[in-house]
Amino acid sequence: MKAMNSTAQNPIRRNSAIALLTLGLMACGQDAPVEDIYKSSLYVFGTKVEISVRGTDAATLTDATTRLESEFKRMHKDWHAWKPGELVDINQALAVGQSHSISPFVKPLIVRAKSLYELSDGLFNPAIGGLVGAWGFHADEKPQGHKPDLAAIRALTAKHPSMRDVHLEGDTISSTNPTVQFDFGGFAKGVALDRAEEVLKELGISQALINAGGDINTLGGGGAQPWQVGIRDPKAWGLIATLDLLPGENVYTSGNYERFREIDGVRYAHIIDPRTGMPVDHIVSATVIGDNGAIADGAATALSVAGPQDWHRIAKKMGIKFAVLVDDAGTVYINPAMKARIKFAPDFNFTIVESPPL
Ligand code: AMP
Ligand code: MG
Repeated sequence: MKAMNSTAQNPIRRNSAIALLTLGLMACGQDAPVEDIYKSSLYVFGTKVEISVRGTDAATLTDATTRLESEFKRMHKDWHAWKPGELVDINQALAVGQSHSISPFVKPLIVRAKSLYELSDGLFNPAIGGLVGAWGFHADEKPQGHKPDLAAIRALTAKHPSMRDVHLEGDTISSTNPTVQFDFGGFAKGVALDRAEEVLKELGISQALINAGGDINTLGGGGAQPWQVGIRDPKAWGLIATLDLLPGENVYTSGNYERFREIDGVRYAHIIDPRTGMPVDHIVSATVIGDNGAIADGAATALSVAGPQDWHRIAKKMGIKFAVLVDDAGTVYINPAMKARIKFAPDFNFTIVESPPL
């Protein structure tokens, strides 16, 4: 996934984390003048973030990037699910039935997580960090060798760790269920990019694209030069579709096919169905467009879990207006409003299943 301008040669990077790539500032009208674009990059949660701005100067972008670098560093530390920081301290306390203090830096994520949990009927459940860890995803490297302990996974699933077990009182957090372990991996990027957008706005920037490995927030845009993104074919290195973003829209994709572990030749994805404790296995990617990065990010994860049968109901409940899912049999599930604005590639040969409106 890569932000790029119209002169870039290769729009697809093999190591891209997800299904979307920005085609950057491609002018709609071929004759439209392209404004100066300034770019910078930094990292959040180990993912490269590329910021492209227009209508401003290089010094302002440098200023914004410096501010974001320190904020992102703190997020990386205090929101980390398995490395020392505030979240790990909280997880350790909850596991032994103790309450713990919670800072204003972490508390809003818990509040947001509780609301996304309810909106998604519990399919988005950042309290299942224990399960994510049990499947081997609490490691920087892909887990190799040892098999996950299925008996332990079943036992943990039966305890139903959930955001409903979590209680906030002032600056104290507690849980009535000791199996609750937070893992913000399903929406932290959305929260981080929403914050990046705020910082850019504070510095007077009004047009920007912030791309973190395919999850994208935009600020402004549109006009003669809309931000354009591509939806990748999950099984090959081409595009199945492109899409112009309206000003301020954000796009998030949950993908099964990049982060997985392989056991006896079977691939297990990092998105876990909280009802079964098992990794999601049919949906290859779920892409959501929304106005808020955190909600779109959480929804993309929830729709991956919901799958072909239930995605439409969950999207509706979460207030999502545009969604597209791709499964491993080459079927695309899409709502009419998304279908109306997406441009499928000429050699596109997936089966399209159009849902009722959202
Ligand atoms: P995303 O790529 O946004 O779908 O996030 C995937 C990450 O979310 C995983 O690597 C886990 O850290 C976490 N996760 C896995 N399953 C769930 C779930 N059902 N609800 C919330 N977070 C999850
Ligand atoms: Mg997500």
